[in-house]
Amino acid sequence: MAKKDTTPMMKQYYEIKDQYPDAFLFYRVGDFYELFEDDAVKGAQLLELTLTHRSNKTENPIPMAGVPHMAVDSYVNTLVEKGYKVALCEQLEDPKHAKGMVKRGIVQLVTPGTMMADRPDQAKESNYLTSVVSTSSGFGLAYSDLSTGETFATHLQDWESVANELLSLQTKEVVYDGPLTSTNKDFLDKANITLSTPVQLDEEHAEISYVMQNLTNMVEKLATRQLVAYLLSTQKRSLAHLQIAQSYEPNQYLQMSHTVQTNLELTHSAKTGKKMGSLFWLLDKTSTAMGGRLLKSWIERPLLSLSEIKQRQEMVQALFDDYFTRENVIDNLKGVYDLERLTGRIAFGSVNAREMLQLSNSLGAVPVILDTLKNSGNQYLVDFAKQIDPLTGIQKLIEETIVEAPPLSTTEGGIIRSGVSDQLDRYRDAMTNGKKWLSEMETHEREATGINNLKVGYNKVFGYYIEVTNSNKNKVPTDRYTRKQTLTNAERYITPELKEHEALILEAETKSTDLEYDLFVKLRENIKTYIPALQTLGKQLASLDVLVSLATVAEQNNYIRPVMTNETHEIKITNGRHPVVEKVLTAGSYIPNDVIMDNNVDIFLITGPNMSGKSTYMRQMALIAIMAQIGSFVPADKAELPIFDQIFTRIGAADDLISGQSTFMVEMSEANDALQHATERSLILFDEIGRGTATYDGMALAGAIVKYLHDKVGAKTLFATHYHELTDLSETLAHLENIHVGATEENGKLIFLHKILSGPADQSYGIHVAQLAGLPKRVLREATSMLHRLEAQGAQPTSEQLDLFTTPVEDQPVPTSPTLTDDEEDVLDEIKDIYLADKTPL
Ligand code: ADP
Repeated sequence: MAKKDTTPMMKQYYEIKDQYPDAFLFYRVGDFYELFEDDAVKGAQLLELTLTHRSNKTENPIPMAGVPHMAVDSYVNTLVEKGYKVALCEQLEDPKHAKGMVKRGIVQLVTPGTMMADRPDQAKESNYLTSVVSTSSGFGLAYSDLSTGETFATHLQDWESVANELLSLQTKEVVYDGPLTSTNKDFLDKANITLSTPVQLDEEHAEISYVMQNLTNMVEKLATRQLVAYLLSTQKRSLAHLQIAQSYEPNQYLQMSHTVQTNLELTHSAKTGKKMGSLFWLLDKTSTAMGGRLLKSWIERPLLSLSEIKQRQEMVQALFDDYFTRENVIDNLKGVYDLERLTGRIAFGSVNAREMLQLSNSLGAVPVILDTLKNSGNQYLVDFAKQIDPLTGIQKLIEETIVEAPPLSTTEGGIIRSGVSDQLDRYRDAMTNGKKWLSEMETHEREATGINNLKVGYNKVFGYYIEVTNSNKNKVPTDRYTRKQTLTNAERYITPELKEHEALILEAETKSTDLEYDLFVKLRENIKTYIPALQTLGKQLASLDVLVSLATVAEQNNYIRPVMTNETHEIKITNGRHPVVEKVLTAGSYIPNDVIMDNNVDIFLITGPNMSGKSTYMRQMALIAIMAQIGSFVPADKAELPIFDQIFTRIGAADDLISGQSTFMVEMSEANDALQHATERSLILFDEIGRGTATYDGMALAGAIVKYLHDKVGAKTLFATHYHELTDLSETLAHLENIHVGATEENGKLIFLHKILSGPADQSYGIHVAQLAGLPKRVLREATSMLHRLEAQGAQPTSEQLDLFTTPVEDQPVPTSPTLTDDEEDVLDEIKDIYLADKTPL
């Protein structure tokens, strides 16, 4: 950088800035953080600050903008949420005692992936920093949430899988310096992921070996080392709360691409991007933020292991059956704070006394919860309770050390109970005695001088003084009192004795606050050694919270426990419902539907009018499968389900973040993904495949895809189509069955029954739906007449384009009123639409 200003301060600034070229440097000067040069220009714009200049008189004034240090957090958050990094540069010594330039240094680099979620609306969100390494034997990927310290690692074959994982984790920052094609860069841009360069550490850190201790895979180790190194170098503080990395295989869980998760609205509504309207929204009755975050991760990673699913089911069942236990546990969980994030703050040393009490209050709730579970008489609940260590020792320690209502500040005293330290108690005695002496002196002096309103007071500048109002000034014993300060209506005096006791009191006060701080730090350091135990407890309480939540939701919505099996691929759902649609419709108006696909049926070909409920039916199937595999009960009267290995979808308008392809291309690559990777244990939902291209093209492709799925894949497939011609496939494909969504016509209007019936639909009803949508009557009539002509020309579609527009429309009888012209009919329609009661006499 061109160094325009060579004052010692700016020299120091440039030296530091050179080390952090890609971050905004917040340079602390007194009560402000200053931004200079380009940072100031850009920062002023992004943060709406006033841009000023330093060294105004010189030829090249330096742009400058400042933010008050009290408000720095919100400015930092604004920048980081926009994807930037902020380097916080502090004064490392007290300017009053500094010789020459004040020493300054970076204390923290705040980045999108390391920003700690503090706002209440972020309590149930994780913020993952991801690290990726690329080697000849594939990719290593590791990620961590800095606020809780949980860490995971995996290995992946190709960049597509990496991209998919990054999206699923909703990571905001990836540490990676491998080769990136421009498409990959585009992807990171579009997904708003900040790309950061790995850092090399000079020395070995205990955190790295601790986190990596259980990893065996080489690329996972590399990625994890890179992750922790980056965290250490940005945080520049103890990361004692980082957890031992857990290695995982994506195929250890029910696999769903990020697109599938989005399409099925698992954690966010597709329309609004908000939690409301998603499966997470429906299932989340958790009482703690930890439980909320865990539930979200369960939804994103349903299980494959039958025994693990059953284990969760047993717990849900027990809590479902036992209202008393459930409510009792809920009541007590409500008193449990975010142990995982509190633990993080203990590790960072940023925890205050009130949070310390939050920790002990949380721990206080645990024995009650355990007793409730143990007294339930249910073996699963009892066994669960037995694994939990309530850490009563820590709870006692905090409770016995910290006063009931401590202040926020940890440096101004008033935190530690009496009886904790003899020394502290002695200081406090000295303070109390001193103050007692003062009040005795006040009484004594009043008597001695005869000044009744004489009083002893204190201020920061003069310390303790005796105050006498002007009217009594003449009674002051000038031989003993020295005048110190004159006010408009009073005089203030001191005496040698008063100053002597003042020194004793103030000394005791400073020493006691210092000692309190030391004792607090000692307590914090002591608790630090229990961090892994606290984290384990946090996880156990979180899973209890989730299980209770699942039981509550199951009870409130009449769900049943599904029977899960590994033995067959049969699906038997009686009266299944879409959990979210059912919830938003008026109670009782959702029409339940069966899904019975035994060993002889792999494909349901679903026809029926638009808006009749095809897509809802398909989603319902997927959501029931996912709920079942997270251990939840499901919305049905009865359900027997296989364990699915993967779910594929082609529904709705997908975002094509990864590649930026055309809609039809996305449609085809999603179809391809399923054709290539699905197994007979998978579930496939295809909605209107082929719609993105010309009719015959699309129909041919759709037909061929169905045939391939039938002959080669054998996955359970729900295939909705508007190509009525495809329904003939049931004659040749033994494992394909036609079903349709029922609809009837009443007085020329279409009534949706939302009921799944066997066999193909007999009409497309498209024109009726258009009528419902309010299309102009003229268009509807034109369409009706074309339809009749098409039908008259024979049901066989030919590749020849039909000459629709040369035949006059009038040649076709229009069903309602053939003798009128179009214009006359429009008028007639308008007249029919008039509702007389709405009209004024005029
Ligand atoms: P399609 O995919 O056939 O166009 P959708 O599945 O999108 O139709 O359903 C259209 C609307 O019909 C839904 O938004 C929902 O309100 C309603 N619906 C669908 N299925 C049912 C059902 N089983 N019971 C009640 N209403 C339903």
